[in-house]
Amino acid sequence: MFEHVLKIMQSCPCGRRHTLLTEECVVAPDAEEQMKEYIARKGWQNPLVIADENTEKFISRLPFPVKRAVVDGHAHATEIWCAKIGEAVSAERPDVLIACGSGSVHDITRYVAHERGLPFLSYPTAASVDGFVSGVAAMTWHGQKLTFPSSPPIASFANPAVFAFAPARLTASGVGDVLGKYTSLFDWRVGQILTGEYLCEELVALETEAIEALVEAIGNRAAIGEEAYCTKVMNALQISGLAIQLSGNSRPASGAEHHMSHLWEMHRLNETNDGLHGEQVAVGLLAVARTYHRALADGLDYEKIAAIDPVRVMDRAALAPVFRDLTDGILRENLPDGTPSSSSLTRIRLTADTDRALHEAEKLLPSAEAIEDLLRRAGTPLTPGEIGLDDSPAFLAKSLRYAPYVRDRLTLLKVLAAAERSANP
Ligand SMILES: [Zn+2]
Ligand SMILES: [Zn+2]
Repeated sequence: MFEHVLKIMQSCPCGRRHTLLTEECVVAPDAEEQMKEYIARKGWQNPLVIADENTEKFISRLPFPVKRAVVDGHAHATEIWCAKIGEAVSAERPDVLIACGSGSVHDITRYVAHERGLPFLSYPTAASVDGFVSGVAAMTWHGQKLTFPSSPPIASFANPAVFAFAPARLTASGVGDVLGKYTSLFDWRVGQILTGEYLCEELVALETEAIEALVEAIGNRAAIGEEAYCTKVMNALQISGLAIQLSGNSRPASGAEHHMSHLWEMHRLNETNDGLHGEQVAVGLLAVARTYHRALADGLDYEKIAAIDPVRVMDRAALAPVFRDLTDGILRENLPDGTPSSSSLTRIRLTADTDRALHEAEKLLPSAEAIEDLLRRAGTPLTPGEIGLDDSPAFLAKSLRYAPYVRDRLTLLKVLAAAERSANP
């Protein structure tokens, strides 16, 4: 397990107790042997491996007998695949599940494990997302994108000899997910400055360390070689996943850049898009970082921010043409108790120090040019057009305006959009 993570669990200056359900998180060339020992220690006799057609070949690397259940190569975490895997679980009666694959295989396994009350182990085959060790399942249920609370893996075992040979696009997507933490962490700080929201400095430091180690690896990629590079990506992803568990929610790992990705996946501004999670986050990150630096350089309009009116911002008549059948859900998310007073926007308190504090926080957010350079070197897409979305400035502007509605979470993007809407309803 990572040292800094263990330190945070022992004691944290923020006063909260940070706990993990994941007991081990291994990234090593003998990951499969360590998994075998772990299973023996637990006394499990009958593991069932969930894989897809592309990742099934890695099952033979496991040095112990297993049963298998395989989904289609393009299977998403849907009610249909969860039901099929549920049938396999009923037939095979395993005492532990092993997710052998990337994001979707993990989400299917996580969901079924939670539903059946079974422990599950993570065996990631690509460094593509930070969700392997997280406790949230991202599902497409009857066509709607939903996140279900579920269990994190009790242990995760990743071998560079497996994930370093995944398609380059998957690793680049993982880099996008990690670099997205630049704006996630900035937004968390904005929440603290504007609303007094709880923020744990140790978790910020942990995520920052993970980003910095990855940025260094991007710089040394040619010198250290692909296997070491992919290992750095996986380490950063696993630390980010653990930070989500330690925090109890995704605040350290998801801000306005993730809201852009979620909005595009809701298919309300766009038909479909073929971007992977981390690719969408990369495109969102660049657009959001540009917006933030521009807004702070121009100077924030604190009169407008002070005049934010949640009633106007959450106006059903204005939201319904965009969110259509999802409008009720969007309003429920933004106004948890049904009244405007429950919006995070009502907690904004401006002081004489607000502007200085925001500019201080901005110093930790690299310039848009620096972020673009990192993403380019990592090989991620940079523009909506590159992930199959409309490439017009109007589409991007609309995305920036509506993405903050995806979650009640306070971000600078939400403040900017709310100030505009309150001034020009
Ligand atoms: Zn803490
Ligand atoms: Zn993510």
